[in-house]
Amino acid sequence: MEKTRENYLAWVRDAHAMEEQAVTMMTGMIGRLENYPTLRERLQQHVAETEQQADALKSILEGHETENSMLKDTIGMAMAKGQALSGLFVSDEIIKGLMASYTFEHMEIAAYRVLIKTAQKLGETEAERVFVKSLAQEQAMADFLADQLEPTTGAFIAREEADLTAKR
Ligand code: MG
Ligand code: FE
Repeated sequence: MEKTRENYLAWVRDAHAMEEQAVTMMTGMIGRLENYPTLRERLQQHVAETEQQADALKSILEGHETENSMLKDTIGMAMAKGQALSGLFVSDEIIKGLMASYTFEHMEIAAYRVLIKTAQKLGETEAERVFVKSLAQEQAMADFLADQLEPTTGAFIAREEADLTAKR
């Protein structure tokens, strides 16, 4: 199971980078959202969850290795900042942000499902419990965002037609 353990640790590290990226992306979005309070409030709630997820992944990593290679995290965060900033230059940033967030949550769901299966193979029951909890949070957020697609699009169109700020 040596190879499996190596893969497992790499995937936990990737997941940690993913969660750090999620915090940066969502924080950037929250900072600009003005006219979509439902979305803003849920994002704020999910940022808090995401910070806990990142901490939990870090603890799991620290339990397995002494040397820390968090280089990937730095790259991921730089990418997330770029993504967050790119919203400033588009006229429909709320729609693009919503679509990107919906996509991102599904990437997270996939990551935790892979981690759960691998943790089961390795008998990492404590870690498995952590991943199952995070998976439920990602699924809930994905469901929320899915439900927001039509109403947010409707609100965006209505605001545009009324010459109100629609993009955020
Ligand atoms: Mg997450
Ligand atoms: Fe998430």
